[in-house]
Amino acid sequence: MKLIHIQKTYHNRNNTVHALKGIDLDLSTNGIIVILGPSGCGKTTLLNIMAGRLSYEGRIEDVPSFDYLTQEFNLFENMSVKDNLLLVSDNREKLDFYLDVFDMSDQMEKKVKKLSNGQKKRVQFIRALLHQPGLLLCDEPTAALDRDNAVKLMDELKKLSDEVQIILVTHDILLSRQYADRIITMEQGVIVGDEIIHEKGRCHHGTEIEHKTVKETALLSYRRLVSTVTGTLMQLMLMMLAVLTMFTVFNMYANVRAQSDYADTFKQAKNLIVSVPKNREANHTETYSGYAVKYTDLTYSDLFDYSQIVQAVQDHPEIIGVESFNSYQYQQDYELEDLRFEDDSQAYQTFDFHGRQFPDFPLESPFIIRSDFEPYEDWDEYVSKEYRNYYSSMVSVFDLVNGYEDLPLLAGTMPEDDGIVLSRNAADMLMEIDGYTSYEEMIGKTMSLALRGYRNSGYYLLEGQWPISIIDVRIAGVSSVENDFMTMVFFNSGFGNNPVYDYFVKDPTHMKLQYVRFLLKPGSDYEGVAEELDAYFDKINVDISVFSGQGLREEVRPYQSPAGLVVYAGILLVVIVCVLVLYLFAGRKRMIKEKQIMEIYGYSIMQESMIRNVAMTILAFILSLIVSIPFSKLVNDFAAAHYYQPFMTFNLPVLMLFACGMGIAVILLEAGMTHRRQHDHH
Ligand code: ADP
Ligand code: MG
Repeated sequence: MKLIHIQKTYHNRNNTVHALKGIDLDLSTNGIIVILGPSGCGKTTLLNIMAGRLSYEGRIEDVPSFDYLTQEFNLFENMSVKDNLLLVSDNREKLDFYLDVFDMSDQMEKKVKKLSNGQKKRVQFIRALLHQPGLLLCDEPTAALDRDNAVKLMDELKKLSDEVQIILVTHDILLSRQYADRIITMEQGVIVGDEIIHEKGRCHHGTEIEHKTVKETALLSYRRLVSTVTGTLMQLMLMMLAVLTMFTVFNMYANVRAQSDYADTFKQAKNLIVSVPKNREANHTETYSGYAVKYTDLTYSDLFDYSQIVQAVQDHPEIIGVESFNSYQYQQDYELEDLRFEDDSQAYQTFDFHGRQFPDFPLESPFIIRSDFEPYEDWDEYVSKEYRNYYSSMVSVFDLVNGYEDLPLLAGTMPEDDGIVLSRNAADMLMEIDGYTSYEEMIGKTMSLALRGYRNSGYYLLEGQWPISIIDVRIAGVSSVENDFMTMVFFNSGFGNNPVYDYFVKDPTHMKLQYVRFLLKPGSDYEGVAEELDAYFDKINVDISVFSGQGLREEVRPYQSPAGLVVYAGILLVVIVCVLVLYLFAGRKRMIKEKQIMEIYGYSIMQESMIRNVAMTILAFILSLIVSIPFSKLVNDFAAAHYYQPFMTFNLPVLMLFACGMGIAVILLEAGMTHRRQHDHH
């Protein structure tokens, strides 16, 4: 190696150190070349420059293949001596030979951290020699050793120095005198003496370190992983927990949000579209279910045709439920015609008060009554004692249409044929009335609905609260949806076919309806559909608009969003990630050291990190896969016990995605943490 006017200046924040002030050296012979000088004179700086670890001014020519034995031990402390050496060369013969030379054969299987300092130094030497360098750079090789070991080591170096050029930096004058073939003396960045003691032959170039293959790199990764089983398991555990928590947080966030949005839509009746008589000359205003309705005298042409509503439902797949109250049945078409001619402007009142012979028609909504209640016997008493406020037990009856079966259920199933699904508040009311203790208990039981209405036989309506009939319906399911404005019951038999209509309407094609409400699928364009329906029902004297009631109920039960749980899971995630980062950070020093060794011996750091962490990621993924199944079940059981829909849905691609993300994060974290800033760049 030739050094031509090497200069090095360290620029510190507040001062500049001229560490090397022009070094010219021709180092072309074998033997031990000692660079001697007091501490701080620039020896380590010079060695680092020779090893290509520092920037400098000047020129270096003819660099042989070398190995650099830094002052500190740079070995894989957790690996055995053998594995440390195998990572340089898999030439077992040479390995055994050097182990023998350095008297280390017995220690081969021992972990490096269990060796004495002298033994460690020797392992470093064996490793350096295994790849047959032309030059060995040694920074204070005996500094960590006692006198005996130092002498032993120097003896061994001496033996080697016939074959290899050894540049040895020390401040130990005695030792240099004893072993050196050439002594170069330095003082404050300059060479002040150069003395040849023994003439030696010209040095050779040595064998270049080859880049390691992927297979060799993978082998090293494997050795690193198994060298610290507990460490590897610990990291694996943390990665698995992180992946699992990410998966849980994501899953819960998505599901809880969807559940909350859905529930809130119903709770606030955002998805309800109602018909309101057009503001003509209003007779009186009444607040019905929080909606100010201006009652006018309706005419026959103000009523909806059954077929029109069926058509509207067909045209709008967003419509999931239809409710109508005050329906009129006409047995014969000519009756309709009669009505129109006779009393066109007073159709509503004609039905009410003129004593005409019309069949029954339902008056607004039915209400839930005790299932053991005997009609017509003690109704007065029942109403006065138990149900003075009939609003509280009134239910809105919706027909589920367009095949809608997505109501989230707390218990039971969606109804088939004659079954019904209760909204949560309807179920709660029934619980009170019939003494059930759980939603599950109601499933399969019957419940009683009192139909209120006008009857052609001249029933006298006492404040509109007389039941004209009581029908029993079977409870198929209880849904978690409810709202603040009405208690809902869902029939699943298609519009106009539910038992309420069965009672009142024999032939739905001869049905006219006064008030209609549409329930839309949560998330659809409520305003848009309302406008379209309004246009569609243009001829009828109503406005179709999105419901905007205020609610009549005093006590509004707020929707209990389980969002808090997502926050807890999120906090847990942060904690786990912090522990993982801290854990990686704790191993940082060791990682940096090991990275340097790998760099020296031709391993690609990135490749090794990738192989190792991809393996870890796959393991973590498999582990989290195994754990996530029972874990998801646990979380969902918890959700079910608290009457929520499942929080967790098993989603393999998402789990894989998080595992990949985790792997990439760990690789980047490792790279970032072990990234050493170059000592001094110009
Ligand atoms: P030696 O190895 O002979 O003890 P060094 O090469 O370590 O000497 O240091 C030579 C001079 O350069 C000293 O004055 C030291 O303080 C300074 N020095 C070494 N490394 C740095 C650095 N990274 N930044 C600034 N000054 C440094
Ligand atoms: Mg030094």
